[in-house]
Amino acid sequence: MSDNKKVILVTGGSGLVGKAIETVIAEDSRPDETWVFIGSKDADLCDKKSTEEVFAKYKPTHVIHLAAMVGGLFHNMAHNLDFLRKNLHMNDNVLQTAHETDVVKVVSCLSTCIFPDKTTYPIDETMIHNGPPHPSNYGYSYAKRLIDIANRGYYEQHGRIYTSVIPCNVFGRHDNFHPKASHVVPGLMRKLYDLIKDGNTEDKTFVVLGSGKPLRQFIYSKDLAKLMIWVLREYSSVEPIILSVDESQEVTISQVAETLVAAFDFKGKIVYDTSAADGQYKKTASNAKLRSYLPDFQFTPFEKAIKETVDWYKTNYDLARN
Ligand code: NAP
Ligand code: GDP
Repeated sequence: MSDNKKVILVTGGSGLVGKAIETVIAEDSRPDETWVFIGSKDADLCDKKSTEEVFAKYKPTHVIHLAAMVGGLFHNMAHNLDFLRKNLHMNDNVLQTAHETDVVKVVSCLSTCIFPDKTTYPIDETMIHNGPPHPSNYGYSYAKRLIDIANRGYYEQHGRIYTSVIPCNVFGRHDNFHPKASHVVPGLMRKLYDLIKDGNTEDKTFVVLGSGKPLRQFIYSKDLAKLMIWVLREYSSVEPIILSVDESQEVTISQVAETLVAAFDFKGKIVYDTSAADGQYKKTASNAKLRSYLPDFQFTPFEKAIKETVDWYKTNYDLARN
């Protein structure tokens, strides 16, 4: 293989973001790039030896590291220790094996939900370590924050350009729709699908957890995939970069529920279960740094992205992660 050929290994390649990258890259392939997508059946990245074996098999020059224990608010609240340990192990194994095998670039994935709970808004890339995360997801947050610390260490000690991106909430095809583990969009989508599969009638009640008031920025997985491919190809700093829609595109959970109701043409009524947790009230992130590189990037409008995802889910319900 000639020196300028890239082999890009995508860990977490069978998940929501990995599948979106696979879809986008199928339409944007380059002759000097070979993309390999792996899931947990290819390697247990919590295990160093298994990680080494999969790196030895594919010999990546570049890595997009997506693999993680991922889940919505309620899954995090119940399993903070597992989120901490599994993600610590996976991240250390992937970064250290990448270094040992001379991988030139790694792009790992943080999240806007790992920022300090008490903060000023909008949050930006400089604020990750400024205080404790929200108590609901401290395990995931501290494990993710340490990726940024490790990246700085790999640069200082070894000159590596191992970087990270910070997406806001993501949704799209191939999401995790499992009722206990899912994020809000796939969780509510599953609920609505199940409610109306035996008849879409006015007597049905769609229960949304919490008050509906929290605010979130949502990025469509295909848009995130395009941005992550850009980061891999063009962004060469160790400093993290937020990949989020604009602040003006922030929506309430009620708006999410109403958009889903419209996409399913649900005839019943929405009820809020205020006994359930709201989680962080908001985590409004600035995408000014991203906009300084890509001022004209067009995000898919939220309603359109929701409709496309609902249509995909209705067609692929039997194959989806339910
Ligand atoms: P996802 O759909 O849950 O996919 C997780 C991926 O990780 C799957 O491919 C899974 O493989 C793999 N994986 C899990 N445990 C593994 C293990 N022990 N060994 C090897 N692979 C393992 O997650 P996602 O939503 O695409 O998230 C991708 C990245 O984006 C994550 O780093 C996440 O923290 C970050 N992120 C996500 C969101 C969001 O809203 N979803 C927001 C911000 C950041 P299997 O399919 O075989 O299980
Ligand atoms: P977060 O953005 O990290 O807090 O994660 P989620 O996507 O799990 O939740 C976002 C918000 O949606 C929280 O305020 C939840 O209370 C609310 N929510 C409403 N219904 C649901 C549901 O069915 N599942 C989940 N995960 N969240 C829900």
